[in-house]
Amino acid sequence: MKTLFIATGNAHKIEEIRYTLQETVRLPSQRDTSVRLEIEETGATFQENALIKSATWAGYFASALCSMGVTHVLADDSGLEVDCLKGAPGVHSARFAAMDSGRSGNSTDAENNAKLIRCLAEQPQTRWVARFRCVLALTPVLPGKSLATMAAATEFFDGTCEGQIRIKAGGIDGFGYDPLFIPEGYNQTFGELEREVKNSISHRARALTQLSARLND
Ligand code: IMP
Repeated sequence: MKTLFIATGNAHKIEEIRYTLQETVRLPSQRDTSVRLEIEETGATFQENALIKSATWAGYFASALCSMGVTHVLADDSGLEVDCLKGAPGVHSARFAAMDSGRSGNSTDAENNAKLIRCLAEQPQTRWVARFRCVLALTPVLPGKSLATMAAATEFFDGTCEGQIRIKAGGIDGFGYDPLFIPEGYNQTFGELEREVKNSISHRARALTQLSARLND
């Protein structure tokens, strides 16, 4: 059985990834180790940022004394794109509010959601079309090989979930922009819908379905 290390400390992402993959592979995460790597997400796209995270951790495990039996690293980079905001917050989704003050690091979900509502207040509701995007990067851990070789061997899986923003937040489930996002075909937000629904139609679920098929090859 393969062991995929989930390169995130985000408990919600970990739970959603495990929901789909737990019967196929072992899935330790950043929350199962005290090792902390300084990783700057400097990419211009979700794919670039996912690769930065997966390759950095694969490099660590390839040379670590304690590799936890990790055979691959799985990284998720994701975010929300709003059409009338020209695709923002996009790759800056996690630090959307902090960008205004030049503060480094991520903002809280409440700060990001408040900023999104402020930005959209100037736009007619018919224009609040949005989508979540997710790119998963799967990098093999290859002891003795260079970081470049491992990065080149990385496979990507992506998923999109179309929908629209509702300015009045709804629901306490999920994380990030979930309380503001209504997926196409529904009239409740991801924060209000059952977890099973989000886990079957979300951007992450769609990327995970492709990855799962690849792992079952
Ligand atoms: P990342 O951890 O750098 O990929 O940042 C992802 C950010 O995008 C999160 O902090 C959330 O703000 C947002 N995001 C990504 N996926 C979701 C989701 O499934 N629901 C709600 N917000 C999400």
